[in-house]
Amino acid sequence: MVLLQIAEPGAAPAAHARRKVGLGIDLGTTNSLVAHFDGQDTQVLADESGHSIVPSVVHYHPDGVTVGSSALAAVDGAHHDTIASAKRFMGRARDDVSDGGHLLFAEGDTLAFATSQGPKTPVEVSSAILGALADRARTALAQEADGVVITVPAYFDDAQRQATRQAAELAGLRVLRLLNEPTAAAIAYGLDSDEEGVIAVYDLGGGTFDVSILRLHRGVFEVLATGGDSALGGDDFDLALANFLQHHAGLNQLTASQRRQLLAVARQAKEALTHNEAIRVSMSTVVSDAPPVELNRSAFNSLTADLVNRSLDACRQCVIDAQVTAVDRVVLVGGSTRMPIISEVVAALFGREPLNSIDPDLVVAMGAARQADVLVGNRTGDEMVLLDVTPLSLGVETYGGLVERLVPRNTTIPVTRAQEFTTARDGQTGLVVHVVQGEREQVVDCRSLARFELKGIPPMVAGAARILVTFQVDADGLLEVSAREETTGTSAHVVVKPAYGLADDQVAEMLRASYEHAAADMQARQLTEAQIEAQQLLEATTAALEADGDLLDPSERAALDAALGALRDQLASNDVDALRQTFDQTAKATEGFAAKRMDRSIQEALGGLSVADFDEELNP
Ligand code: ADP
Ligand code: MG
Repeated sequence: MVLLQIAEPGAAPAAHARRKVGLGIDLGTTNSLVAHFDGQDTQVLADESGHSIVPSVVHYHPDGVTVGSSALAAVDGAHHDTIASAKRFMGRARDDVSDGGHLLFAEGDTLAFATSQGPKTPVEVSSAILGALADRARTALAQEADGVVITVPAYFDDAQRQATRQAAELAGLRVLRLLNEPTAAAIAYGLDSDEEGVIAVYDLGGGTFDVSILRLHRGVFEVLATGGDSALGGDDFDLALANFLQHHAGLNQLTASQRRQLLAVARQAKEALTHNEAIRVSMSTVVSDAPPVELNRSAFNSLTADLVNRSLDACRQCVIDAQVTAVDRVVLVGGSTRMPIISEVVAALFGREPLNSIDPDLVVAMGAARQADVLVGNRTGDEMVLLDVTPLSLGVETYGGLVERLVPRNTTIPVTRAQEFTTARDGQTGLVVHVVQGEREQVVDCRSLARFELKGIPPMVAGAARILVTFQVDADGLLEVSAREETTGTSAHVVVKPAYGLADDQVAEMLRASYEHAAADMQARQLTEAQIEAQQLLEATTAALEADGDLLDPSERAALDAALGALRDQLASNDVDALRQTFDQTAKATEGFAAKRMDRSIQEALGGLSVADFDEELNP
């Protein structure tokens, strides 16, 4: 179906076919990785020297671009040309960013980093990283990738996701899906053991902290809640420790380069404390004659207790938001969860030992690789496909060719949504339910999924029938739409099959079009709505005049006709405000007539007609 991008049943490759290459990419703020599932094992792909982690750092120089550790090595020489943490600025506009540091400037509304090689946008920087990861995979696997799954934080909004997608396209990669990082981590742990339950994913990386509560049910992850702090990560631990070291080594003024060196020393010291209770930190790389500083783990823990507590507060809030009473599994993600204090406090908070058997740096990329392998078309028939959200909105056509959305895009599945509709015309006995998909306001701009008819609605005046339309997307991504007339219980339904799947790039194109046309679409919708209202008023009043026109004297009749004429004329124009104003005036002009009709119908009800009159009517 349209809904979710799944490979079609039967599309699995024949036994002799080449296994397709799907890559899982963890595009991190600090570090990035690429992993591949070969049908047996998931391996994170390393460079020639065996390093699997690629620092998310890009260095621009006259001969081109370097990425990763060699870019990092260049920081000291030309730090304006070396860009780190670009992920923080992905999909952000000038107004979203309070402090971008000196590297950042805004060109119109787009952010870019000023380098000696010209302005570089966060999308371009990320694209360079993705390109380097793809190169690495090409070398390691001696094959071109058929598609990639890139992970993004669960809290990323549309603009941030769009920017990530753009970066991949710029790098020439085919994006199978953007996968939420916590879902990827849960896949890495969950697929093999086939578990059910509520999972908390605690992800403390270099620059960000994210916590997510997921529910896993029949192989489908539902994101119940996300939280965290986009300005809390390993870097803050480095900073806290750097300040402490600077103070204890008695260093006052530091140059920018010494300051960076100090941060590097702090980071190494922090990481060393993960494996050692106490260490001696040499400061000689910062200032050659500075004395070393003695440091133990508990001192480091007190220095950074505030940071740890901030993460726990966010966890508590997330549990409240998810409305769960218990968490069955806790998954640790991100290099900073190696700090022993993290396992301790997280275990205490959730009341169970966290899962950490997979390297916390690699777990997200590994989960993404598993997912990429499925999405690229290598899955066998009985393997469960993991779906978590609807990529595009689902809705029905309403009067005037407008779309009423029932399931907004990015809704986690399984999901059920219902809404009541009514008839538009007196005596209407049938209703066509037209199911559409897309983000645009008008049906013609959306994708038509299915159409079915609900018959046998008892004849009633317009607006009296109550028809409940229910959208249900099940765990396998099948959409069932049903319509039920409430007084008679008559119902009809349709099931839309996954075989009509949209490719990811079509989804992206539909989203792009919806952003582009958003303002015009909204105006068109308002005009259509006003026109429908006016049309209904004209029709209803004309019918009433035919039945009870004798109630008006010639001057009243002339005034009402003039008001109707004015509205009819205005209907042709495209001016929403003028149409609304004329509508109000016309509606007011009908009030006296409506009152007279009301009086007449009351008189009739009170017995204006004799039994003889009835007999005569029935047997003329
Ligand atoms: P991101 O996802 O933000 O790119 P990562 O998950 O790669 O970040 O985590 C990077 C962070 O993990 C850095 O701050 C790094 O110092 C920290 N880190 C890595 N190894 C250790 C360790 N052994 N002890 C403590 N922190 C570590
Ligand atoms: Mg990470």
